[in-house]
Amino acid sequence: PKLIIAVDGYSGCGKSTTAKQVAARLGYTYIDTGAMYRSVTLFLLQHNILFTDSHAVQDALAQISISFKFNVITGRNETYLNGVNVEDEIRMLYVANSVSKVSALPEVRRTLVRLQHQMGQQRGIVMDGRDIGTQVFPDAELKVFMTADALIRAQRRQVELVDKGQAVALEEILDNIKKRDHDDTTRTVSPLRQADDALLLDTSYTTIDEQIDWVVQMATE
Ligand code: C5P
Repeated sequence: PKLIIAVDGYSGCGKSTTAKQVAARLGYTYIDTGAMYRSVTLFLLQHNILFTDSHAVQDALAQISISFKFNVITGRNETYLNGVNVEDEIRMLYVANSVSKVSALPEVRRTLVRLQHQMGQQRGIVMDGRDIGTQVFPDAELKVFMTADALIRAQRRQVELVDKGQAVALEEILDNIKKRDHDDTTRTVSPLRQADDALLLDTSYTTIDEQIDWVVQMATE
């Protein structure tokens, strides 16, 4: 039988990479809920909608359609906002800087959680986010909660940035990670926390392949 696999956890511990590969190995659909919050954020920014104007935000939500496509040529998952590929745009810093404010809006969460429920109807999904095991699919058959030492996450992030040609001080990256951890766990709506029945996956000293193997093993045993 096909499962619903919930993958939650802190930023920068390899959640999306792991979830994506697990889905590929099991022949499941990967759903990136962070990309959904990022897409709504992008739409609000593009249309100069004030995050505090709840009527305008509701109107905007009614006009938004989000979908995912797996590009067989590039091997990448692509996010579409109203039919336009926004995969690169939603990863930009100006979107990242606003997404925590947008994801704290109750009307946004209500709409996206409803959409996530619909996506889960088909089963055979790996959904990654912050509240999947606690709020979206509390009955998911497999819940994984990912964490890693903050300093190790910062070092990995620094290597990624160097690969992209950006030199950023470790201190700065570490501060950013700690701030995000704090924001994610202390916000009032759907704070990040490990569900009671979630399995803890600490990726401080594991490779991506080990993480994937571990989750696949939990899903198949
Ligand atoms: O996973 P990613 O970093 O792309 O998520 C972007 C942001 O969206 C997170 O920092 C968090 O504020 C928000 N988010 C959320 N609930 C989810 C997924 C993401 O609030 N299920």
